[in-house]
Amino acid sequence: MSSNKIWLSPPHMGGREQWHINQAFETNWISTAGPQIDAFERSLTDFIGSEYAAVLGSGTAAVHLALRIIGVAKGDSVICQTFTFAGSANPIVYQGANPIFMDSEKDTWNMNPSLLEDTLTGITKSNQRLPKAIIPVHLYGMPAKMAEINSIAEKYGIAVIEDAAEALGSEIEGVPVGNMGAMSILSFNGNKIITTSGGGALLSNNKEYIDKAKFLATQARDPAPHYQHTQIGYNYRMGNINAAIGLGQMEVLQERIKRKREIFDYYLNMLGNVEGIEFNLEPKGYFSNRWLTTILVDSYERKESIRLALERENIESRPLWKPMHLQPVFKDAQYFGGNVAENLFGRGLCLPSGTELNEDDLATIVHLIKSIFI
Ligand SMILES: *Cc1c(COP(=O)(O)O)cnc(C)c1O
Repeated sequence: MSSNKIWLSPPHMGGREQWHINQAFETNWISTAGPQIDAFERSLTDFIGSEYAAVLGSGTAAVHLALRIIGVAKGDSVICQTFTFAGSANPIVYQGANPIFMDSEKDTWNMNPSLLEDTLTGITKSNQRLPKAIIPVHLYGMPAKMAEINSIAEKYGIAVIEDAAEALGSEIEGVPVGNMGAMSILSFNGNKIITTSGGGALLSNNKEYIDKAKFLATQARDPAPHYQHTQIGYNYRMGNINAAIGLGQMEVLQERIKRKREIFDYYLNMLGNVEGIEFNLEPKGYFSNRWLTTILVDSYERKESIRLALERENIESRPLWKPMHLQPVFKDAQYFGGNVAENLFGRGLCLPSGTELNEDDLATIVHLIKSIFI
């Protein structure tokens, strides 16, 4: 593999991660407990403004624990945004529950609140059991319409699990996402806006939820001198070394958000007036961390031409997430909606958005994309 490949969103260390790792080594906190874990959890709750956090091995593990803590079990159903990564939806199946996938609206590309409302009304009228949870996602950093979704969920008494995996640093009306559901999840996977190599977090204002998450994440070990278990648990805790990386990354999060947004603005300025390219602009009051810059192209063929032209120059781009209701593994799942997510998938492309891209890289990418439209 060439060393000068341009990746979609590679890890970008801030410089102090190694120092934090050394602190962990010097004090021999190498395993799944330690001051770096506590400090990383505090830095997340400070940043987001929520009360409690549990850092975990992955964002997917956080979704799983959230469902388990709410009591999602075999035979239950859970509503999940269809336009997302499999990590949002797979844990529903881990719990033996059935996913119900929900289409997006066109402003934010996230869960359509009026469709959600219609679906819940329909379920109520036909005397079926209501879903146990709703999982909206802030895709590519663009916040979902949380006020609307939360008020519908509240009306029906359904818990909201906010998937903020891609949206650390995004805001609605100045309020950071990640504290807009009964529980919220983050991911620190390698390509996210900050990374701990791999990892995730579960956040909540409810202490019981987060205590329970920590308990379940350490094999549900009861307080006893010997190993005693009255429940089935998981090995889902984050390592202290990973948390040390996270501490270093939190120090540069604001810089990363700023650079991600500059990259979006650059693409928008250079390509916004090309006929056949559209950008997803922020609705009023919405602030996206612009984790990945995405474009919509006028046809599937043209989108593929762009992707392949970039690939020939060793530049990675990627189609938008393939909706869950179109995934072979979920072919039997219920789906409510039209073709909004499907259309986004067909025409959309994620552009290289790494925070270390320089002006020459960006100019090359823009030039290659423009060449497809001549
Ligand atoms: C990354 C991601 C997750 C969690 O992924 P992990 O790799 O398990 O940390 C969940 N949902 C979305 C939308 C994601 O992008």
